[in-house]
Amino acid sequence: MDKRKKILCQFCGMSLFSSSKTCPKCDSAIENQYNYTTFTLDVAHNKETVKQAIDKLYQVIEQNQIMRHRQIRVIVGSKMIREEVMRELMVLKREEAILDFRMDGKNSGALLIKMEN
Ligand SMILES: [Zn+2]
Repeated sequence: MDKRKKILCQFCGMSLFSSSKTCPKCDSAIENQYNYTTFTLDVAHNKETVKQAIDKLYQVIEQNQIMRHRQIRVIVGSKMIREEVMRELMVLKREEAILDFRMDGKNSGALLIKMEN
């Protein structure tokens, strides 16, 4: 990729050089954003209730049995949705429906779920 090429942060829309590792505005890890193996799901910015957010999460995890993205990035935004999503993810990890999950770089508004190695 051309290092001086401009790209947009998929999380906040900030314009960046494609060589950037993280977004200076929202701290998302850029290399993860432009990886085709990652599917991004926003459960927090369409006025979702906590229940709707969790439903969306489960739908995408179920779809992923066919889609086979290696990672799912969940934009969790607000604190309440974030806490509930993390609680569900802990259960899913224990049940081995997902491999692992973590914060997306230093961006506390997004979580990265590892589906496969
Ligand atoms: Zn950003």
